[in-house]
Amino acid sequence: MTTTQSAQEIFADGLRNAHAMEKQALSMIQPQLNRLEHYPEVSEMLERHYRETEVQIQRLDEILASMDTSASALKDLGLSISGSMAAMGHTIAGDEILKNSFANFAFENFEIASYTSLITVAELCGATSAVPLLQQNLEEEQRMATMLQDSLPLITRKFVSLSGSDNVRADI
Ligand code: MG
Ligand code: FE
Repeated sequence: MTTTQSAQEIFADGLRNAHAMEKQALSMIQPQLNRLEHYPEVSEMLERHYRETEVQIQRLDEILASMDTSASALKDLGLSISGSMAAMGHTIAGDEILKNSFANFAFENFEIASYTSLITVAELCGATSAVPLLQQNLEEEQRMATMLQDSLPLITRKFVSLSGSDNVRADI
């Protein structure tokens, strides 16, 4: 790098990236809703987190609005991960429920890493009023990550049972 960034600039970039990340979260969750007839627990969990994510975006907007306009200009370019999620079809086919569950868990952990770093930058540049808002977002991601992990055995058992006895190997 030939240029140096102030902590303030790094914070502004981080906020814009977090905003794009949350938009990505919505577009990742949205196509999974209403397609989980066999997995109502997962459906409820995702619906709840969708609404939570909308509030997270409002918190980021609030922080960005308190900064100068050039810092708050949003790009929402999106992230490179999980781009294929939005392109999914209308029904859950095969082991998509498992793959989606892994991707959801991976995404929450990406968010946890982002907010952990962003809170540190906020502290470094003296953005003290932003810290509690970012902390709220972080705690919601941590709760969601834990719930997703806890749900994996149940989802997996249900997946195996719905797959029927045809797929069960008798030789093992
Ligand atoms: Mg989020
Ligand atoms: Fe999240």
